[in-house]
Amino acid sequence: MNYISTRDTAGVHEVSAAEAIKKGLCDDGGLYMPSEFPQITDEMWSTLLASGYPERAAEILSLYLPEYGYENLLSDAKAAYLTKFDGEIAPVKKLNDRISILELWHGPTCAFKDMALQIMPRLLSRALELTGESKKALILVATSGDTGKAALEGFADVPQTAISVFYPEDGVSKAQKRQMQTQSGSNVNVTAISGNFDDAQTGVKRIFSDAAYSAELEAHDVFLSSANSINWGRLAPQIVYYISAYCDMVNDGSLKFGEKLDVCVPTGNFGNILAAYIAKEMGLPLGRLICASNDNNVLTDFLTDGKYDRNRPFHTTVSPSMDILISSNLERLLYLAAGHERCANYMNELKENGRYTVDDDVLAKIQEDFVGLWCGETECLAEIASVFERYAYLTDTHTAVALRCAESYAEGSPEKNKILVVSTASPYKFAPAVCRALNLDGTGEDSEIFMRLSDYTETAIPEPLWSVLTKDIRFENTISPSEMKNDVSRFISLSENK
Ligand SMILES: *Cc1c(COP(=O)(O)O)cnc(C)c1O
Repeated sequence: MNYISTRDTAGVHEVSAAEAIKKGLCDDGGLYMPSEFPQITDEMWSTLLASGYPERAAEILSLYLPEYGYENLLSDAKAAYLTKFDGEIAPVKKLNDRISILELWHGPTCAFKDMALQIMPRLLSRALELTGESKKALILVATSGDTGKAALEGFADVPQTAISVFYPEDGVSKAQKRQMQTQSGSNVNVTAISGNFDDAQTGVKRIFSDAAYSAELEAHDVFLSSANSINWGRLAPQIVYYISAYCDMVNDGSLKFGEKLDVCVPTGNFGNILAAYIAKEMGLPLGRLICASNDNNVLTDFLTDGKYDRNRPFHTTVSPSMDILISSNLERLLYLAAGHERCANYMNELKENGRYTVDDDVLAKIQEDFVGLWCGETECLAEIASVFERYAYLTDTHTAVALRCAESYAEGSPEKNKILVVSTASPYKFAPAVCRALNLDGTGEDSEIFMRLSDYTETAIPEPLWSVLTKDIRFENTISPSEMKNDVSRFISLSENK
């Protein structure tokens, strides 16, 4: 199993899984993709159906990371999912006869990013070993809120690594900000950017593509790597929970084995839903992949008419982790549907003009699997109230976007597949908006908001969100995007002086 760049027509960038995870991004600016999608055999299905989550993870991951070895992957998966999760790992909850919900927020930061970021640092650590790397990996992360905390939590004090996280000053929730500002660990750095998420992400990409800077870091025995969802080490673990959810639904009688299941994913950078597509390519019986967006509905438009256009107003919404106008992982789908050359051209047009239009055959191919829907702010809040009223099920703002899209899809679709809605955050992570949706006061101290929500809904406040309230703030710096490189340099020499 080798990895190739989405943009590399000549195939000169082919690398092993360990190298792909170590590097994060290809030298030509493309993203690493496996050279093929391994198929889940009948024998594998029997094992998967009978296993727990860590075993399922090790089974799937060893297809993509063969040089790691099953036993190592199993021990990494156990370390990732058994100790820091709240008891459940990726449970499926039945909402009604048509819709079930896959809860991906039982990890230490209460958002779905933990599913990948609790294991990815371990995969990177092994990648350094496997490739004989002696330099320190410096992880640069641009975050719209959840990735940052989850990456910090995953990398804190991991040997031979350091992590620097940039978040948009006004683009994350108060609770998210506090989670990051209080992060412990000797190898971590957290900085606010005066700008939006795209500014932060563009800044990180610029540092990555600055060859002179890389050489300078190299002289200090440091190399850059990424924990953003462009890293294959982030994407691969996300394939697992789709397969796991399907197995659970077969085991509890919600699905007959082989029966098609639609999935609906609240989407930002397109990583989560792309993992569903890959699972489908491996033989998981999925039907439609419903890409749910908020007011920043650039993907809805693209999936409808094949025109991707980021030249539009950026909306700050109650589902900030989806406030994204450049969905990086879409490049991987474009490569699969259009091939290297056209993918490289589209990405070039995106860079030059902020827009591109795919050829008809590419759009047709994509529409065989994907459908794009979106849900605005008022509808999102109304959905939280309505789902709570109808089912006594409390959902966060991102999941509410997906639920609304799934319900409207269910009403209008001729196929009657069951729908798995992916739930990406604990409602407490976005408590002020969730309170507002329920007509509760969403203002005041976080502790008061949490208690108000908990009393009204009779749900428990997640321990990790509660304990953060009493931790000291360590990071309060705000800089402009142009100062990001300096900030990294300052951090590296600081952490070396310690
Ligand atoms: C990151 C995130 C998303 C978007 O996931 P992508 O993989 O970037 O599409 C949705 N909801 C929440 C809560 C998130 O943290």
